[in-house]
Amino acid sequence: MSYKRQEIPQSEISRQLEICARVRERLAAAGRPMLALVDTYGCQQNESDSEVLRGYLREMGCGFTDDEFQADIIVVNTCAVREHAEMRILGNVGALNHAKKAKPDQIIALCGCMVQQEHMAERVKRSYPIVNLVFGPHELWRFPELLERSMTGKKRVFETRQSDGAVSEGMPRARDGALKGWLSVMYGCNNFCTYCVVPYVRGRERSRRPEDIVREARSLVENGCKDITLLGQNVNSYGRDLGLGVDFADLIRMINDIPGEFLIRFMTSHPKDATEKLFKTMAECKKCARQLHLPVQAGNDRVLRAMNRGYTAAQYIEKAELARRYMPDLVLTTDIIAGFPGETDGEFADTLELVRRVRYDAMFTFIYSPRVGTPAAALPDPMPRQDKQKNFDRLLELSNAISQEKHNEYVGRTLRVLVDGENSDRQYPLTSRTNGGRLVHLRGGRELIGQFTDVKIEKAATWALFGEAAE
Ligand code: SAH
Ligand code: SF4
Repeated sequence: MSYKRQEIPQSEISRQLEICARVRERLAAAGRPMLALVDTYGCQQNESDSEVLRGYLREMGCGFTDDEFQADIIVVNTCAVREHAEMRILGNVGALNHAKKAKPDQIIALCGCMVQQEHMAERVKRSYPIVNLVFGPHELWRFPELLERSMTGKKRVFETRQSDGAVSEGMPRARDGALKGWLSVMYGCNNFCTYCVVPYVRGRERSRRPEDIVREARSLVENGCKDITLLGQNVNSYGRDLGLGVDFADLIRMINDIPGEFLIRFMTSHPKDATEKLFKTMAECKKCARQLHLPVQAGNDRVLRAMNRGYTAAQYIEKAELARRYMPDLVLTTDIIAGFPGETDGEFADTLELVRRVRYDAMFTFIYSPRVGTPAAALPDPMPRQDKQKNFDRLLELSNAISQEKHNEYVGRTLRVLVDGENSDRQYPLTSRTNGGRLVHLRGGRELIGQFTDVKIEKAATWALFGEAAE
């Protein structure tokens, strides 16, 4: 696979910021502030991209609203990983009809992975005339230019050309909150798991330069961020394309050296590339959270091969055990797909067996969803949906039982948590996360929000722990 690393020159980003200034002036002259709504679906990378969308919109002088009837600009940042997400997005876009009727000048834009697929861009063009602007993930850096074009021109704008993708630095960003921050370390994926659409819509693996990442991490910490999540489809291949001799473990160490009390999390780690060096580095770096999301997808070797995952169940278990040897208190989570084409009940039983063996703290489980253009979508898929659902339900039941047992083990222990907000529970009004990322509902005063504190765990449920802030 040949891919030449491509960086967007700073002059191009400056040009986008000039366009923002021009739009801002024009709106100011019209004497009316514009309101924007950014609606985000899918993964953390999309959340991070939406921060850039809002950053650019803020540069244009926009305020923000949640009300589609108030919004002058609506941007829907879409996901393509499963059909369910796509159907929900299309339903919600269809429902914007009413807002657009009430506000005919409203600009409706669709961006992200769903519309990067040719058949979906076509469908939007044909069946959703209310949509003015469509652009894929590769065009994010030039959103101002595309938005200006759709505001001033008469034609609808569609920009979804195929691309391996590039790396762009220096885009403005409006972050959601100060306490937690997303930090992309790389983009794209080269793994081509046979069920997955991501490599087709997000392009080839390309890493940001370590100095750019460390600079951003430092600025996050200086601005009060206490929980940084490093993002990439497969963070374990970080740096390969740069050829600087800096791998992901080295990067963790560099961020760990930044002064201040904060936590480093990351996702996602592909099991085939997770190394002993990574586990050792995690164990040695005080600021690196004892949390590892290591998606296994299936527990049967034939299915894993058909998925093109690059490891066997035994190799996976060995890696998980190695990680736990370095970090006995590690919180281990995973993703599993039930009903991959051709998977039999017997093969699925191997997945359940693997889950019983590894005992995950939490699992994200999905029913296989065929994706246009992926190899798995062309495989015979004889198992009826209701049988896949039965397997899925068994998996969920097992997963919940294990999570509950693991949570019960926390009762009576004192854990260090980061208090991140409030909830409506009168008895436990605060929310917090443990070092391993478990949710803790907390009794304590509001002044704890934004602080690390020790908490004595009093009770446990499947999805959360409950406790009181310890003096
Ligand atoms: N790069 C990450 C995340 C990819 S998408 C990784 O490799 O783990 C997140 C999860 O969605 C995947 O781990 C997989 O479990 C699930 N997924 C991806 N494609 C899917 C499909 N076609 N049907 C059902 N689940 C899918
Ligand atoms: Fe998809 Fe596999 Fe890449 Fe993850 S590693 S994004 S599942 S192709």
